[in-house]
Amino acid sequence: MKDYAMIIDYKYCTGCHACEVTCQNEHNFNENEWGIKLTEHGPTKFESGWVWNYVPVPSKLCDLCVEKTSDGSPVPCVLHCLGQCMQVVPVKELADILPALGEEVAVFIP
Ligand code: SF4
Ligand code: SF4
Repeated sequence: MKDYAMIIDYKYCTGCHACEVTCQNEHNFNENEWGIKLTEHGPTKFESGWVWNYVPVPSKLCDLCVEKTSDGSPVPCVLHCLGQCMQVVPVKELADILPALGEEVAVFIP
């Protein structure tokens, strides 16, 4: 699935875990299998103040829901993201999309 990438604009991630649970349900994963897993960084104090981020990270089980992505359907984790901070896009569009998102953005290409 190297033609597509997942962008997570994690400055808007609420840490709600909906992406994790939705993916597990969609793929019938058991409770120890994760297509995507929420990580937590902080709280850490910098000169500018405290930083505490949630960053969901896709695992090797994530294939970007290849069948849905290929026919243009939204993938389950993106559809249920309460922060609306996830998107799956063609790799060739990354250069156009990323500058507008600013900082605290992660890109995953399975
Ligand atoms: S794109 Fe599909 S496989 Fe990957 S995390 Fe989202 S729901 Fe799971
Ligand atoms: S569903 Fe969205 S807001 Fe919730 S933890 Fe996942 S990425 Fe963050």
